[in-house]
Amino acid sequence: MVSRGRHQHNEINAALRAIRKFEWLTVVESHNGHRWGWIECACGDPVQSVWCTPRNPGNHAKRILRWVSEHAECAKNEERS
Ligand SMILES: [Zn+2]
Repeated sequence: MVSRGRHQHNEINAALRAIRKFEWLTVVESHNGHRWGWIECACGDPVQSVWCTPRNPGNHAKRILRWVSEHAECAKNEERS
């Protein structure tokens, strides 16, 4: 069973926990096939996919965190709303 809000790999779980602190980033869970879900940014850039069973969870977590760091400044753009 896959529990909501948690990823089976600890490294990725930690990355997702960090992302939830950023109000302009949204973690969307789909549990569709081997896609666990994705991360959206308020800036509207292409989303970052989160895979259920990446070949290398550590690398996947790093890739997610790199995407997050690229969007770390996006909150400033929310002034539009
Ligand atoms: Zn962004």
